[in-house]
Amino acid sequence: MPYDPDNVFARILRGEIPSDRVYEDDEFVAFRDIAPQAPTHIVVIPRGVPPTSPAGLRDEDAGWLGRMLVRASRIAAGAGLDADGYRLVMNCGVHGGQSVAHLHLHILGGRQLDRLG
Ligand code: AMP
Repeated sequence: MPYDPDNVFARILRGEIPSDRVYEDDEFVAFRDIAPQAPTHIVVIPRGVPPTSPAGLRDEDAGWLGRMLVRASRIAAGAGLDADGYRLVMNCGVHGGQSVAHLHLHILGGRQLDRLG
């Protein structure tokens, strides 16, 4: 799937669409999800043109992807989620329920989430 430079997260990065940002640095931006699925629902995205989904990841993406995971854990801690826990989710494609084709990580917390199995 080619990267669409007008996808909603690309537009958020360019400041064309407002977002409730909770963190940003030169690699990542994190903002509150517009349709939260939990009391705290934050989306972490890489700047630039990342793979559209986890399916597009390559070996050379391991560095920034690892930093994104570490950053997400810090953001979750900053949001007060450490004590009771939280979930990190990365959706992929149709069966994964992905709706925005700019790789991203969800942080969900603030309530008891359903077990996966
Ligand atoms: P996914 O379904 O995994 O692709 O996640 C995309 C997420 O982006 C969904 O949870 C949407 O609610 C969220 N979203 C879409 N548009 C916006 C927006 N303008 N600001 C914040 N979150 C958004």
